[in-house]
Amino acid sequence: MATVIDERALDERLAKLEAARGWSPRVVSRLESLIREGDDTALFRVNPFTLAAERGLDPAEATDLLLHATAQGLFEMDWLLICPRCACAVESFAKLRAVMRQFRCPQCHNEYEAAMDDYIAIYFNISPQIAATRYQQPQALDPFDYTFHYRGVREGRRPDGALYIDSTRAALCGIEFVPPEGAASFGFTAAPGMVAGVSADTEAGFALQISGEPVTGTQPVRLAYRGDRYEPAEVPLAPGPVQLEIANPSSHRIAVAVVQFPPDAGDEFLTFDPYLTGKHLLTSQTFKSLFRSEVVGGAQGIAIRDIAILLPTSGARPRCTSASATSTPTSWSSSISTGCAKPRCAMAGPW
Ligand SMILES: [Zn+2]
Repeated sequence: MATVIDERALDERLAKLEAARGWSPRVVSRLESLIREGDDTALFRVNPFTLAAERGLDPAEATDLLLHATAQGLFEMDWLLICPRCACAVESFAKLRAVMRQFRCPQCHNEYEAAMDDYIAIYFNISPQIAATRYQQPQALDPFDYTFHYRGVREGRRPDGALYIDSTRAALCGIEFVPPEGAASFGFTAAPGMVAGVSADTEAGFALQISGEPVTGTQPVRLAYRGDRYEPAEVPLAPGPVQLEIANPSSHRIAVAVVQFPPDAGDEFLTFDPYLTGKHLLTSQTFKSLFRSEVVGGAQGIAIRDIAILLPTSGARPRCTSASATSTPTSWSSSISTGCAKPRCAMAGPW
């Protein structure tokens, strides 16, 4: 359970939230229950659609509830660019106006063009003035929590329906923080296919091809982190025991996840459980009324693919931001560069 750190502020802001508009019975009390009873994970990146499903709320009202709660200082909005191949949160922005149009996933190295209806997701984090969670101190998280919960999102699913985060956990050979000017050791048994390494904070990754006849003796491998790559770049190995040493001569800590991939791993897109998209939010009257400056300043230049909406500009006539007006591709696949100059990393649609 998260620790409420300011009871008086919580009570005052809940009272203002209750009075902000007419709510269905017990809606605000359900949000209060979440704040008081939810653990750190439950209060980090709250998805209004998940909240609605779990607490018996109407999804539209749950969205309005979190928007009003944000306006009252109970939560903070978190705009994320999400990679559709590896579910990582490529960038996090506190405000719409900071969201980038073009982005490159540091883990799978693919480039994307963000549109309001794809790759841009909005979540709600409990305000640190209300409750303390471990996600407010990301440097203190354990390596898995940091890499896959803090630097990723939960909604991604493999083509077989399994949660991506669960599949990745099951395929892990090891995950460690490698301290500055330090080293980490990973011992595992490699299966045919590929063992790859990804780091949440750097584009550097490695891929160890595993093929040939199995061996019984341990195969030692030493890699050195060089900021944007690992050396050596390729190491052929046979199926069997591996002792992998990673040296980090840099002055900063790196997180390294070592993941086993089968030989038939494909380069596939994930599907995602419903989340709040930029398009959804920009068509929300509640968002437009509560966060007007965000709407005016933020959406210009980022397309919405499948609808045309009118956004007010500052004191001027409405401006059309339809797909045709911004010459944006009309489908996901057509907007995506699948070329990658680097070895395909572990997170590049492995399954
Ligand atoms: Zn990616």
